[in-house]
Amino acid sequence: MTKRAYNFNAGPAALPLEVLQQAQEEFVDFRGIGMSIMEISHRSKEYEQVNDESQSLVKELLGVPDGYQVLFLQGGASTQFAMIPMNFLKPGTAAGYVLTGSWADKAAKEAKGFGEIYVAASGEASGFRAIPAPGDIEVRPDAAYVHITSNETIAGSQYAAYPDTGSVPLIGDLSSDIMCRPIDVSKFDFIYAGAQKNLGPSGVTVVIARDELLQASPKHVPTMLRYDTHAKSKSLYNTPPVYSVYIVNLVLKWIKSHGGLEAMERMNRDKTKLIYDAIDGSGGFYRGLVEPGSRSIMNITFALGSEELEKRFIQESEKQGFVGLKGHRDVGHLRASTYNAVPYESCKALADFMNDFRQRNG
Ligand code: PMP
Repeated sequence: MTKRAYNFNAGPAALPLEVLQQAQEEFVDFRGIGMSIMEISHRSKEYEQVNDESQSLVKELLGVPDGYQVLFLQGGASTQFAMIPMNFLKPGTAAGYVLTGSWADKAAKEAKGFGEIYVAASGEASGFRAIPAPGDIEVRPDAAYVHITSNETIAGSQYAAYPDTGSVPLIGDLSSDIMCRPIDVSKFDFIYAGAQKNLGPSGVTVVIARDELLQASPKHVPTMLRYDTHAKSKSLYNTPPVYSVYIVNLVLKWIKSHGGLEAMERMNRDKTKLIYDAIDGSGGFYRGLVEPGSRSIMNITFALGSEELEKRFIQESEKQGFVGLKGHRDVGHLRASTYNAVPYESCKALADFMNDFRQRNG
């Protein structure tokens, strides 16, 4: 059997073993065509089928209502930080940004270069330990849109409930929690997510948006940065990241065959409970960095009593086969990313390691 690491990387991150094995099987000969999928035209019927099927699966798994389109774009979620204001932030309007941590902050900073923004709510005063309550988010009736970051990958926080923005478009960065649980897509007008955490490898960004928003971009926006370019061509305007989309296709099928998003959420809650329990039951030896009501089921952040102890934790965990537990350089401390493809057994092993480490060092 393949020996796999306990992979808690934040992204790129763990992929389901079954997906990797199927990709390996099909690597040199994709479904009997005598070539790999990387060696054929993106306009071939084989690739078109992968593209169409993947877009349909995104709709099916998330329960996307009629009137929305799914796009596969390039440039990562970071390019969306710019494309969103370039396409939607018209002169004379302002866009609201909810500041919940590093990623929301980056999105807001990028938007500032294209127009006026306002801070719709901010968790900065509390050190980003909590997501603002939906009622505390200022929705100006004339706002171009309100932007939220569903899951802060670095801080380790996640919206428990999304705000209702009425007739103002709600835009969500779901890069690090798309498909970790069922959501009501109709609350959003526009969702985007880099694939490299819950959906596949890096190289493709999924956009799910209301048709109206994708109809007409302002004239001055370059072709590749206009949503209407990609909406009109079913994401085949230029050469897409074929292999990334193919792996996303396999991951979507994996999610479906494992019970869809309800099952993903159940698994993720069970997995993260093991680790949060190890934190909460440690008598203060481990300290969670986020308030319980805003805790993420994708990225668990925690601290130990000293930097030295944290170093020792990392060193010992690495020796035992754990990967990716060092916190992001912006906040330090420790982080365990528990995306859909991270098995229960890895989380169990981590919780056991944490308890054992506490007993030896507490
Ligand atoms: N938003 C969030 C919430 C993220 O976690 C990340 C990447 N870690 C990004 C945006 C940026 O994504 P990319 O690297 O695909 O540009």
